[in-house]
Amino acid sequence: MTNVPMHATMPTCPNLERCSLRQSIGMKEALAVWHSFYCESGFVRCERYKLACAGSDVPARLLPNGRLLEGTDAAIAARRDR
Ligand code: SF4
Repeated sequence: MTNVPMHATMPTCPNLERCSLRQSIGMKEALAVWHSFYCESGFVRCERYKLACAGSDVPARLLPNGRLLEGTDAAIAARRDR
């Protein structure tokens, strides 16, 4: 567990620039919610961040809360590459 004082402002996720979440989430409004709740205020809770820190591959389908987007990683990657 990261030792961050409760009153401290949580910094933005250090993986933000290289994270593929924005390519996996098509809807701008939905992406803004994920960013607000995880990327900009609570990245230590993000399951994508935890996997990346552990050196594991991060599935394209994985959402910050640990749930998976519908579809396969391949389908999401294909949608991303369009
Ligand atoms: S989804 Fe997770 S790993 Fe990606 S930028 Fe947001 S907090 Fe960081």
